[in-house]
Amino acid sequence: MSKDMMPAFGLYQPDSVDGAIDLLAEAGEGGWALAGGNDSLDWFKDRVKRPETVVDISGLSELRGVRELPDGGIEIGALTTLTEVENHPLIRERYRLLADAAGRVASPQIRNVGTLGGNLCQDARCWYYRYGVDCYRAGGNSCYADSPQGQNREHCLFGASRCVAVSPSDTAPALVALDARMVVRNAAGEREVPAGDFFIGPDIDIERMTVLEPGDLLTAVRIPADWAGARFYFEKVADRNTWDFALVSIAAAMVVNGETIERIRIAAGAVQCVPRRLSVVEDVVTGQSKTEATATLAGQAAIRGATPLNFNHFKIPLLENLVRRAIRDA
Ligand SMILES: Cc1cc2nc3c(=O)[nH]c(=O)nc-3n(C[C@H](O)[C@H](O)[C@H](O)COP(=O)(O)OP(=O)(O)OC[C@H]3O[C@@H](n4cnc5c(N)ncnc54)[C@H](O)[C@@H]3O)c2cc1C
Ligand code: SF4
Repeated sequence: MSKDMMPAFGLYQPDSVDGAIDLLAEAGEGGWALAGGNDSLDWFKDRVKRPETVVDISGLSELRGVRELPDGGIEIGALTTLTEVENHPLIRERYRLLADAAGRVASPQIRNVGTLGGNLCQDARCWYYRYGVDCYRAGGNSCYADSPQGQNREHCLFGASRCVAVSPSDTAPALVALDARMVVRNAAGEREVPAGDFFIGPDIDIERMTVLEPGDLLTAVRIPADWAGARFYFEKVADRNTWDFALVSIAAAMVVNGETIERIRIAAGAVQCVPRRLSVVEDVVTGQSKTEATATLAGQAAIRGATPLNFNHFKIPLLENLVRRAIRDA
């Protein structure tokens, strides 16, 4: 497929968030927010997505940086780069889980340009879809990955509903574990959406990965104080340790008192179309001693109900072991 020329679109470079919101509202379905461009430019060059209006938000300094909140939490602007998230002293000190997750995204070059907002709002990485086939997610009536010969090694274990793609973002499970709030603005105002509700599966809307609708802009992520300084565990397994998407990832935040696990939130990436909050694991380990036996039970609980496709059975023991390690080593 030729990548030498993108289809034409109107390019706008607003100098305020209000200006960006007005432009996105006016553009409606034909609008596209452009942040670091790592994902967007691939879509445009492959001619798979053809927006009429591209709103380049990368110049909006209001959306960059990390601020302390009065409750002891922090707010991270959506345009903060993944490198900044990885290295920021406040994030490293209080929410190391997120710094670790951001540091495992792609390559240093992509992290230097890629933004937290773009990482959270990125579309599915299923290669059939990215190649431009007319699958369910693209508005068609079949799933090429979930077919007898379909290549579905990277696809889901849970929550399939016609589409079997997974959530590709490394920072998303970390933010679900930290009980973060997504700050979304549009022409009608601002709303906060819990990270656990921000990502949506194909059963809700097969053409979107998040609750964002045309005209919406993710402006920031707020992390409450509750989990500041907790014990954390992030691990991502990919085919290669240079840039690559997760086959399975695990993100856990845990408060331990003596030997006892007092509180925990844990989420897995790349096993479902949304970051999968492992509530059953949380129930199994809360109030229990942080021992190898508890960790083993947690791993077993995590894989209950997993429904593998033809080529991704290996993800089941992988998820089980990552959960076991998270409980044992956090
Ligand atoms: C080679 C390669 C390897 C990669 N590996 C990984 C990986 O290992 N792990 C991982 O998690 N990701 C990976 N990615 C994805 C990459 O991290 C994300 O594409 C990147 O973080 C996106 O950030 P961006 O600012 O460049 O987004 P853009 O390309 O500008 O935007 C991505 C999407 O988000 C939307 N968007 C961006 N910002 C906002 C906002 N504020 N509000 C609403 N919508 C918005 C855009 O409209 C677009 O749909 C990889 C990408 C590439 C090209
Ligand atoms: S998994 Fe989803 S995105 Fe991939 S081919 Fe099937 S419907 Fe399309």
